[in-house]
Amino acid sequence: MLQPYKHEPFTDFTIEENKQALLDAIKKVESELGGHYPLVINGERVDTEQKITSYNPSNKSEVIGTTGKATKEHAEQAIQAASTAFESWRKVTPAERANILVRAAAIVRRRKHEFSALLVKEGGKPWKEADGDTAEGIDFLEYYARQMIELANGKPIISREGEQNSYVYTPTGVTVVISPWNFAFAIMAGTTVAPLVTGNTVLLKPASTTPVIAAKFVEVLEEAGVPKGVINFVPGSGSEVGDYLVEHPKTALITFTGSRDVGVRLYEKAAVVQKEQNHLKRVIVEMGGKDTVVVDSEADIETAVDAIVVSAFGFSGQKCSAGSRAVIHADVYDEVVEKVAARTKELTVGNPAEATNNYMGPVIDQAAFDKITGYIEIGNDEGKLVAGGKSDSSTGFFIDPTVFVDVDPKARIMQEEIFGPVLAISKASSYDEALEIANNTEYGLTGAVITNNRAKIEQAKQDFHVGNLYFNRNCTGAIVGYHPFGGFKMSGTDSKAGGPDYLALHMQAKTISEMY
Ligand code: NAD
Repeated sequence: MLQPYKHEPFTDFTIEENKQALLDAIKKVESELGGHYPLVINGERVDTEQKITSYNPSNKSEVIGTTGKATKEHAEQAIQAASTAFESWRKVTPAERANILVRAAAIVRRRKHEFSALLVKEGGKPWKEADGDTAEGIDFLEYYARQMIELANGKPIISREGEQNSYVYTPTGVTVVISPWNFAFAIMAGTTVAPLVTGNTVLLKPASTTPVIAAKFVEVLEEAGVPKGVINFVPGSGSEVGDYLVEHPKTALITFTGSRDVGVRLYEKAAVVQKEQNHLKRVIVEMGGKDTVVVDSEADIETAVDAIVVSAFGFSGQKCSAGSRAVIHADVYDEVVEKVAARTKELTVGNPAEATNNYMGPVIDQAAFDKITGYIEIGNDEGKLVAGGKSDSSTGFFIDPTVFVDVDPKARIMQEEIFGPVLAISKASSYDEALEIANNTEYGLTGAVITNNRAKIEQAKQDFHVGNLYFNRNCTGAIVGYHPFGGFKMSGTDSKAGGPDYLALHMQAKTISEMY
C-alpha cells in the first residue's frame, strides 16, 4: 500500500549542505558534457547520421551533449515497435505499471540534484526553478501511480437482477508525446508517464533545445523496468518526424505541450483519418498563455507587487502561466506601478551555474532572444518603459526584466505571447473593466486577482475565463495534485495535468454487461 500522495518538498539552498550538493551535481554534469545519446527504438540504441546538439543558453559555445536525430524511417521503426509492444504492455496489471512509476520516482529522487543541475546547464534555469522542475517531475510519477491504482477497477455503475455490469478503463494505443523545453523535465516526464501507466506505448519526441535531460529520463524508465518497445526515444525535427508520427495511421493518442501555432496545426492534422486508419485519434494539446494579474482598488499593495513581479519574471517569463500582463485599478495604479518598477530593478540576471542567487538566467536560444528583443522594440512604441529594456547575447542570451506601463489593452504586447521577461501594464477605471481586459485575449490559461473584497472574488470565479484562477497570490507555480493545470480557449484542451481526470483522457472506457 502506497503512502498518501504529498508533493515533493522544495530544497532550501540557503542551507550550506544543500548548496554544496547542487554545486557538486553541477560539477558532475560538467564532467559529462559532450556525451552522446542515441535514439532508443525497441530497447536498442540506434545511431543516426545526423545529430541534435544541445547548447548551454548561458554560454552558447558550451555543448551540453548530442542526441540522435530521427528520420521518418526511424519514426516508422519506432511506431512498429510500439505497436507490437502494446499487445503485451496493455495486459500488464495497472498495479505493476504503477510500481514502475514509483520506482522511477525513487531513482530520480536519489539523483535529484543531478537532474536539477542539468536543468541549470541545459535549460538555463535558476536553482530554485530547476529544483521546482525536478520536484514536479517526481510529483507526476508519484501522483499518476496512485491515480492509476484508484482507476484500476474502473468506476461503479448499476447492475440489475441477473445482470453484472462493469465500467472499466482500457488503454488507447500507440501514443506520440511531443514536449516543450521550458519544463524540460517535469512536462516531458509527466506527459510520458501518463500514457505509460495507463497501458499505452510511447514515442517521445522532446524539444530540440533540451533533448539530453529527456534521454536521461528514458534511461531512468528503463532502469525502473519499462520493457523494450514500450518507451521509444525519437528526438527529431518537429516538422519532419513530428508530423509523421502525428499523421501515422497506427498512432492513436497525441499529447502535445507547446506553442499555439504548432498545437493547432497538430490538432488539425490528427483529425484527418488516414488510409488504413480504423480509429479516431485522441488529442491533448496544451498551448500558450497571455496571463493576467488583476489588481483591484481594495487590494493589499505588497501582495499585488509580489504577485506581479513573481508571475512576470520567474524563469525569465518563460512559463505558459507567466503573468506577462497586469491590469491595475486606477485608484492604486500609480503606487503599484512605482513599486513594481522598483522591485524589478532589484532583480539580478546571470549565469545560474555560477551563482545560487540570480533571480533570472538566460532565455533559451537565439530565436527566443531575437523574438523577445523584437517585442521590447514594439513595447517602446506601445508603452512607457519604466524598468529594464537592455539585453546582451555576447556570451549567453540575457535579457533584463522589462516593464512597460500605460499600455493600451489591445496593444500587441498586451495581446501576444512574448514568452520572455517583458511585462505590460494597463490601467482600468473599474473592477468590471479590469476583468473585461483580463478576458480580452484569445488565451485562457491562468490568471490572478488581488482583492480583499469577497464579492469581487465571487464575481471573478464566474467571469474570469481561465483554466487556473488564483486569488491573492501569483498566477504561476501550479503543484501536481493541488492545482491541476490546463487552459481554456486557445490555451488548449484543458486536460488538467496533475489532476484527477487526466489519466482518463489516455484511456477508453469500456462497458461490460454479462447475464447469468
Ligand atoms: P513549440 O511549439 O515550439 O515546440 C513544442 C514541441 O513541438 C517541441 O518538441 C517541438 O520540437 C515540437 N514541434 C515544433 N514544430 C513541430 C511540428 N511542426 N510538428 C510537430 N512537432 C513540432 O513550443 P516551445 O517553444 O517548446 O514551448 C513554449 C510554448 O509552450 C509556449 O507557447 C508555452 O506557453 C507553451 N507551454 C504550454 C504549457 C501548458 O501546459 N499549456 C506548458 C509549457 C509550455
